[in-house]
Order: sequence, then C-alpha cells, then structure tokens
Amino acid sequence: MRQYELVERVRRYNPDANEDLLNRAYVFAMKAHGTQKRASGDPFFSHPLEVAAILTDLKFDDATIVAAVLHDTIEDTAATREEIDKVFGAEIGGLVEGLTKLNRLDFASKHAQQAENFRKLLLAIADDARVLLIKLADRLHNMRTLNFMPEDKRARIAQDTLDIYAPLAGRMGMQGMRSELDDLAFRYLMPDACELIMARLEELKKKNGALIARIADELTDQFARRGIKCEVKGRQKQAYSIWRKMERNSISFEQLSDIYGFRILVDTVADCYAAVGVAHTTWPAVPGRFKDYISTPKQNDYRSIHTTVIGPGSQRVELQIRTYDMHEIAEYGVAAHALYKDSAGHAEPVDAGESRAYRGLRQTIEALASDDSEKFLEHTKLELFQDQVFCFTPKGRLIALPRGATAIDFAYAVHTDVGNSAVGAKINGRIAPLISTLRNGDEVLIVRSDSRTPPAAWDSLVVTGRARAAIRRATREAAKAQYGGLGRQIVERAFGRAGRKFSEAKLKAALPRLARASVDDVFINVGRGELYSSDVVRAIYPDFQEDRKPGPAVAPGESGWFGLAKAANLVFRVPGKGENGEPLPLRGVDWDTPVRFAPNGGAVPGERIVGIRSDQGITIYPIHSSALVAYDDNLDQWLDVRWDLDAATKTLYPTQILVTTLNEPGALGVVATTIGENGANIDNLQFKPSGSDFREVRFDLQVFDIQHLNTIIAQLRDKPVVAKVERLSG
Ligand code: MN
Repeated sequence: MRQYELVERVRRYNPDANEDLLNRAYVFAMKAHGTQKRASGDPFFSHPLEVAAILTDLKFDDATIVAAVLHDTIEDTAATREEIDKVFGAEIGGLVEGLTKLNRLDFASKHAQQAENFRKLLLAIADDARVLLIKLADRLHNMRTLNFMPEDKRARIAQDTLDIYAPLAGRMGMQGMRSELDDLAFRYLMPDACELIMARLEELKKKNGALIARIADELTDQFARRGIKCEVKGRQKQAYSIWRKMERNSISFEQLSDIYGFRILVDTVADCYAAVGVAHTTWPAVPGRFKDYISTPKQNDYRSIHTTVIGPGSQRVELQIRTYDMHEIAEYGVAAHALYKDSAGHAEPVDAGESRAYRGLRQTIEALASDDSEKFLEHTKLELFQDQVFCFTPKGRLIALPRGATAIDFAYAVHTDVGNSAVGAKINGRIAPLISTLRNGDEVLIVRSDSRTPPAAWDSLVVTGRARAAIRRATREAAKAQYGGLGRQIVERAFGRAGRKFSEAKLKAALPRLARASVDDVFINVGRGELYSSDVVRAIYPDFQEDRKPGPAVAPGESGWFGLAKAANLVFRVPGKGENGEPLPLRGVDWDTPVRFAPNGGAVPGERIVGIRSDQGITIYPIHSSALVAYDDNLDQWLDVRWDLDAATKTLYPTQILVTTLNEPGALGVVATTIGENGANIDNLQFKPSGSDFREVRFDLQVFDIQHLNTIIAQLRDKPVVAKVERLSG
C-alpha cells in the first residue's frame, strides 16, 4: 500500500482526517523498519500498513490508524517512546507503548500462567481499548500470513488466537473479526476436522442449494407482499462455529445443518417488528425461540430479533431480523460506533448506543481483568489439542479424541454404557479389534453385548481419562460384588470370635476411625486383605484385644476331618503377598481377586496345583486333592496356576500326612524325630481311631517344598515302625 492509498482510505470515511499526521507516520515507520523483511520475504513495513488498513475498514480515528502504522517500531526498531511522543504526541506514544507491552507477553506457557498473563494484558490495556483493537488487527494480519511463519511458532500463535483473541473480538461485538480469526486458527490447528466439515458443507450446499434459494425467494416475496422493504440474506455457515456447536452440544452435523439461517435486513425498528408479525402470521413459530434483543440489547450492544419458524417446505428456518445500523454494530462491534474520534476534538455527541457500547467494553475488560480470568479462559478456551483425531459415529456425531485413542476410548466418549458393554468395533464398515488406534475421519460403530463388565486390562489400553475412569468404576463395581460378600463374611466371623454382635449401624458410625467412606468400602477392603477384620472390631469396641499372630482361626466344625486345621487356612491379605507380606510365588493368578490356599489342601511349592475360581476368590488346591472332584463338571472355574519357583523364598508351607505305625512304644518318637531331623515343623498331630495293631496319626507339617516333603515321606517309609505314609488333602 502506497502512502497516498492510506490517506485515501481514511479520508473515505473521515474527510477531516489529519493528512499530515498520517503521512509523517508512514514515513517514520518506513524509515524505522528500513530493510527489515517479514518471514514471507516482503518488506516488514508492509505488515503495519496492512494492520492499519484493517482498522480503516473499521473506520477508526486518526490516532488509532497512526498507532497501527507505528505499532512495531518500539519493539523492532531503534525508535523510542520519547521519539514517538516528540513527533506524534503522548497519546499516540502511549498507544504504541501499550502494544509493545502486549507483544512482550508470552502466551506459550502453561494454562494457569496464561490466564495470569491474560489478566495482566487486560489490565495493561484497560485504560485504552484502542490498544486492544490494534492488537486484534495485528493478530488478524499475522493469522492471514501464518503460513509464512516458522513452523514451530504457528501452532502457538493459532492456539492463542483461538483461546484469547477470537473470543475477545466476540466479546467486543466484532463478529466479523471473530469469525475470520476463528476460521484461520481452526484451519491451522485442526486441518482434518476443518476439511471434513468444509467437505460436508460443500456436499450439503450441492444438495440443498435449490431449497435455500427457494426459501429465500418465498421469504422475500411474503415480506414484499405485506409492504416490508427488506433484504433477505442466507447466512453463511462457519466451519469453526459448526465444529464448536457439535463439540459443546454433542449433536451431529446433520442435526445442525438441517436448520437454515436467514438474515432479514430492514430500514427501521418499526419494520423489524412488522417483519416479525409477517413471519409469525405466515408460518408457525417454534416455541421458545423468540428473542427480542432490540428492546433488551446484549451487553456488547448486539441488537436483533431472533425467531425460528416452520417455513417454506416445512423447513425449520432461523430468522435474524435487524436494521442495517444494527447489522453494522453486530459485525463491527465497538468499532462501528467510531468511539474514538481523533483528539483534535471532532467527537460527535455521544448517543445512548455509544455509551452503552463503551460501558459494555469496559465491563468486559473489568470482568476479564478480575480474578475470574481463569474461569473466563476455561469457558473460552476450547479443549483443542493439536494431536487430536476426529471420528464420526455412524449417525455423524463428531467425536474428538487425543491422538492414539482406541475404539475403546471412542466407545466411552460416546457414552459410558456403550464403553462398558463394548465387545467389538466396525471401523469404516470393517470389523476391527477394539484396541485399534483411530485415525482422522474414521467412522466407528461399536458392537455391544447386553451386559458386560469391561476387562480391567483395558485400563492400560485407553488414552482418555474418561474411559479410564469409567473402566475403573466398572471394575470397582465388580470388585464390590466379588470382595464385598467375602469381606462381610470375614467381618461377621471376626465379631463372632470376639463375642460381639455385629451391627451395620455401629460400623457406619465407626467409619471415620477406619478412614473409609462407606460400609461397602470396609467390606471390600477386608475382602481384599487391605484391612484386618480385627481392626474393624476394634474400631467399634476399642477395648477388644486379639492376638493376631496365630493367623485367622477357622471356626469349629469347618476344619475338615480332625477339627484341627489351625494354621492351614491361610488367607493371603495383600494381593500377591502372603500373610506376613512376603510375595506369594504363584503364576497365573489375577491378584485383583483374593487368593487363598484350600483349608487342609496342603499344597506345597513345586507340586502341580490348580486354582478354582468362585465368588469368593481363587482357592489353590494340589492336583491330587479329593476336593477337586466337586468341580469336575465346571471346567470354566478351573484356573491354570503354577508355582513361581524363582520367586519362592524359604517360607514354610502347611501340609498334612497320615502316618500308619505299628502300635508299639517309641514308634511315634521315631516319626517325630525323622521329621525334626529334616528341618520340618510339626504343627499339630491327631490320633485317628484305629485297630489295635496299627495306629493312624495325622501330622500337620510345615515344609519348604515338594522335594522337602518327599524326602521326609521317603525316610519315614524307610523306618521299620512305619507301615504306611500318605499325603492328605481335604
Ligand atoms: Mn505486528
């Protein structure tokens, strides 16, 4: 743009413009920027000129235009504030300095810090909103030329535009600038989403172009017939605002796009109301959609009447009815009021509209500058990440997910129930595993079953917090069913042993002492072994004492043959750990379920074992256990379990043998000595009623492993007094 062109542009709307001032600014900035080049290779000076041109479109005063021409001189050239003050006066100097300050703010930092900077930014410019307006024009030109910027800077600039500048332009009522900023940033940040929406819009236009023209014609015709001179304009749909509505309201593209928007521009306010009358008497109005922003304008001075009717062709038609003046304000906001007349004193009398607009702007700035700025950012900051993927449901609902998201994430993003019952997926019509990573534009159909709990393993396969939380909740519900019953049993038994009466009401009252949120939590924790039942008893009866050492006793009558299985009933308290916290050397066990050895099962490391899955967890049996017969018909309860001998420590395991000796003095001594010499413990022994020649004695032993046990059995069999040795298993 040449020098004379700038002056021309300003004079077109302001014949009294200070030509000399504009010319001096042109020359000053041109000299200051000298041979500097923009990233595009253009002379740098072209940038402030373009910024000034944007502001002339908005019909700003001389000072604003001049400050726009000079806006990068303090920052990027040798020029100083003093120099500018001397040549252009303190008012313009102040504006340029304000812009310099804004440029130095860095928005690249984290969210909270960004809000803080934003607050500072607004406080800094609150004394003169023109700084903000120039900044917006500066940003708009930078966005228009974003492709020339270094790659690494583009994303940040576009994100700031979307987060901060575009919403601000909107708040100031400058819809035109807002739309352009939004769309430029959207196109850069989410090219795939943008392209998808544009393509669909194009499709729609092809499909519905004739219909829209017909509706417009009929509207024009109806208004003309009733004597209202008006201009009917179809409203251009903006890709970004469509995307945002889809995101915010979780509605599909189709739901959004089958509503047609028209703008009716008339000359006078009276015509606005007459037009509403025509619309409502010609077509049925959709209830709840009538808004009169003429009698009560929005805070940013937006005025218009909105209504929706079932219009020509039984289409829902959205109408915005307003005067040309109102339209200008809607498009240009505060700028339309030519609020800032130049300092020479050409200011026109301030009318009600102007002061309202100014008040609105001030209130906006004050609200933004207050401590609520974080909240404001939260609402205007759209959760956009560069590394997103955009997928569609079969009905066309857009689902935005972080890159790397799987079909499982997609299912949970649609609805928690969909996620919990997902069993498969069809991606673009083809069957695909649920763990498939999704790509932009994928259409995903989730195949569901009637009822299902998601496998806990999904937890590690998803990338969205929503899916993870839902999976955890669902597995937690399952855990509640699984552990809750077990925990309740254990607690009730503990109360029985303590000779106290269990009451849920009392337990509820004792929850704070147990640091648990609910009675269910207590049961689950006890069931999982994360809380001792004796602690639960003590929380209600603080005087209760129990020697925890011997391990959980088995209630009389439950103990198999001999009523003696004292230490054999091991309940492992911590998943993956034994009673004393030592790791359990088992493989193939899901540690989310309680694992216990069968009472009197006698399994020892190294021998073949199986797990039996039941409501109460997994019970480990040696393969020779006679108890397994009961499960022969329910093979789905059987679990492949192996000893993890690498992890085995020198821990003693309980097991039982039945030794038949000759009924003679000293026989029992020989057996006991042999066991003792081999380093095994005798936990208990019990005589079984038998004939006079032989004596059957059950030994409860503690051994290290199957080799240890076999050695003992072999040595016992070697003794003349021993007739028979067999292993017992309940
Ligand atoms: Mn600039």
